[in-house]
Amino acid sequence: MFDTTIAGSLPKPAWLAETGKLWPKWLPAGDELASAKLDATLLWIKLQEDAGLSVIGDGEMSRQHFVHGFLERVAGIDFEHKVEVGIRNDRYKAMVPQVVAPLSLTGRVHEKEARFLRAHTGRRIKFTLPGPMTIVDTVADRHYGDRVQMAFAFAELLNQEARALQADGVDVIQFDEPAFNVYMDDAATWGVQALERAAQGLTCTTAVHICYGYGIQANVDWKKTLGEEWRQYERVFPALAKSSIGQVSLECYHSHVPADLMALLEGKDVMVGVIDVASDEIETPEQVAGTIENALRFVPRQRLIACTNCGLAPMRREVAEAKLRALAAGAKLAG
Ligand code: ZN
Repeated sequence: MFDTTIAGSLPKPAWLAETGKLWPKWLPAGDELASAKLDATLLWIKLQEDAGLSVIGDGEMSRQHFVHGFLERVAGIDFEHKVEVGIRNDRYKAMVPQVVAPLSLTGRVHEKEARFLRAHTGRRIKFTLPGPMTIVDTVADRHYGDRVQMAFAFAELLNQEARALQADGVDVIQFDEPAFNVYMDDAATWGVQALERAAQGLTCTTAVHICYGYGIQANVDWKKTLGEEWRQYERVFPALAKSSIGQVSLECYHSHVPADLMALLEGKDVMVGVIDVASDEIETPEQVAGTIENALRFVPRQRLIACTNCGLAPMRREVAEAKLRALAAGAKLAG
């Protein structure tokens, strides 16, 4: 049987936050918000278990966005004066906070939701953090003046939180690095080095998720410019194969990624994306099994994990639920 898991995010219930958005506003406030986040986490733990997934996440119910959720506990960042910048090589504009002073953690970032997740499922759990390069690409720098230096500063903080998450009982710590598919040369050099710094000393399973982004229009349009074959992974996979990171999550279904690029990840567990996050059409178990079988030409059976292409955050909840069921059913069929 193949392990099954999600890339990270899931849709927030309509009583928790605005739906259909990447940076949704919270609806409750104060203590009510704090308990609503955990209620939503519990709901998605149950739905993932019922769907039949073997590695469970918190669905990122406690953070507004996968990068900025971490930054909220980092001193040296000015959240009051956000500025608009073009991110992912100017693919789209985002309002981002500014780094204005040396970075440090003000305390634990995800202790509450990680312990909550541990307490409420008997299955293995995965927790996601943004990767250093992607963080650097999602803030404005008014202090360091050097992307590499700033990435390593963030990597140290990520490492502190990752070690604490491991102590909370997290089985898999995954760093999300969509920026690796945008700055391929930098990713293959200092990107992977900063990632390894973030994972330094961890004895739990470590993972990196590299994708072509959420199913938002800017990403859909960008993908149309990438041509017939998407070979972005080709630069970074050999560097990852040599790294200390244990698992690599990649896009597969409905992408134009040549399947043979997975062979570059020799020695790594491969989380194969079998669920398209840019379409509301629900995959059939046969389609999911077909994607797995295709990947098995390049990934050893014991190293394959079935996963989603990316997070499901901006999708409708009922679509996401159906896709989780398809993921588990398809993996079972292929197993
Ligand atoms: Zn992604």
